[in-house]
Amino acid sequence: MSIAIAIDGPAGAGKSTIARLAAKELGFIYVDTGALYRAIGLAASRREFTSDSTSDIIAMLSDIKVELAFNDKSEQIVLLDGEDVSGLIRTPEISMMASAVSAIPEVRAFLLDLQRDMSHTNNVIMDGRDIGTVVLPDAKLKIFLSASPECRARRRYDELIEKGMDVKYEDILSDVIARDYADSHRDIAPLKPADDAVMVDTSGEDLETSVNKLLKIMREHI
Ligand code: C5P
Repeated sequence: MSIAIAIDGPAGAGKSTIARLAAKELGFIYVDTGALYRAIGLAASRREFTSDSTSDIIAMLSDIKVELAFNDKSEQIVLLDGEDVSGLIRTPEISMMASAVSAIPEVRAFLLDLQRDMSHTNNVIMDGRDIGTVVLPDAKLKIFLSASPECRARRRYDELIEKGMDVKYEDILSDVIARDYADSHRDIAPLKPADDAVMVDTSGEDLETSVNKLLKIMREHI
């Protein structure tokens, strides 16, 4: 029987970085479900759809193939129609598109089995917005990870700058606030902690402290 750990929380709480390091330490596979919504956001953006093109986006689902693979370092790769789009989906524009497509019930249904299947055959740490509440309600451990909007925007800004992207902190902060609002106010699978989630706030903490805090919680539960 495989073990699943769900990590949910708002954009930039450090979920992916922390979950990736914790998964490595525990020998689990790390699944970043945001990348799946981003791949659909990219497919929509390539067709020049906007966040209002709901019916076009739904129709597009029967024409596209989204897959997850892992490279020899156990890093996740997202494939859109067979093309590795793991790098292309990390732009602020695609972040907003991902948030928009993720509010469409058909998009969430389209990605559900893919996410669940990953947990059947592997020990996983899966991160997203609705992993503990919808995707893996029977996860062995559910963590809700958060931090202040300013702190989350600063981390995402540093990350993008390090990748050589030309972005402004103020723009990232307003994106973070807009996405928080959209993610937590949508009708379907809104961002909220599962009733039995362990709440963890990483504001003002460095990465090592947060990873150690989470590893301690994980080891106590698995
Ligand atoms: O986590 P990340 O920022 O990459 O996610 C991109 C967008 O995908 C989020 O803003 C959110 O709207 C959506 N998402 C979701 N459910 C998930 C993961 C991501 O709705 N499980």
